[in-house]
Amino acid sequence: MKQPVKRVRNPADYGYPTQDLAALAEKARIVTQRLTELYGPADWSTKDPMGMLVDIILSHRTKDAQTAAAYANLLKRFGSWEAVRDAPTSEVQEAIANVNWPEVKAPRLQTIMHQITEECGSLNLDFLRTLPLVDASAWLRRFDGIGPKTVACVLLFSCQKPILPVDVHVHRVSGRLGLIGRKVSAEAAHTLLQALLPDNARAIYDFHKGLLRHGQRVCVFERPHCNRCPLTDLCNYYQTVVQPQSTRQQAAGS
Ligand code: SF4
Repeated sequence: MKQPVKRVRNPADYGYPTQDLAALAEKARIVTQRLTELYGPADWSTKDPMGMLVDIILSHRTKDAQTAAAYANLLKRFGSWEAVRDAPTSEVQEAIANVNWPEVKAPRLQTIMHQITEECGSLNLDFLRTLPLVDASAWLRRFDGIGPKTVACVLLFSCQKPILPVDVHVHRVSGRLGLIGRKVSAEAAHTLLQALLPDNARAIYDFHKGLLRHGQRVCVFERPHCNRCPLTDLCNYYQTVVQPQSTRQQAAGS
């Protein structure tokens, strides 16, 4: 009888570059350390889980300053999340007009707020802080429009639970560094990157904030400023694309 072929466990099967996972975890640790030294440790948010949920929904594909302005505007105009929930949708949309897709985000916010009120009796998500991580994640994931990044942001930033959010910056920078394969989706990157990090909220927060700030300031979307980066010795993109290109240019000019 033909025996099934036994697949050898290979990091590449899971979207990792072909290095062993211990080496990638060590690389993630050094990246975190250098970026924390470069940008300084980030403070924890003072928002409660409900406020953070609103903030993250507003922030999708929107700059931080616009998100902060829309968040402040909602509270200034309506005074409470209950009033936001019960207001005409057109007024909520008007209050958040400076973020991308207010016509989608206003009804989404209100629908989620109504669902939370039905289940919890109020717009208070503080109970998530005391739930085990797996239960808190599952509770949030049931709502339409709440994906893994939003869940992780609420639970890490406001509840200090050890779960990694992967936004566009974390996704791009970790792909260039070679912590994940270049073709891995942001959704899949949540699990892959989390597996490289300690089970510790502060360490995960430092990794997230370090890559986020680096992606906003140095490792930017179009042309990363590698000449200002302290990670060149660790970076696959630098070593396979940027450095050979600059060597060719120097040779052509000599
Ligand atoms: S060396 Fe360049 S590509 Fe690599 S992380 Fe730094 S800025 Fe990004």
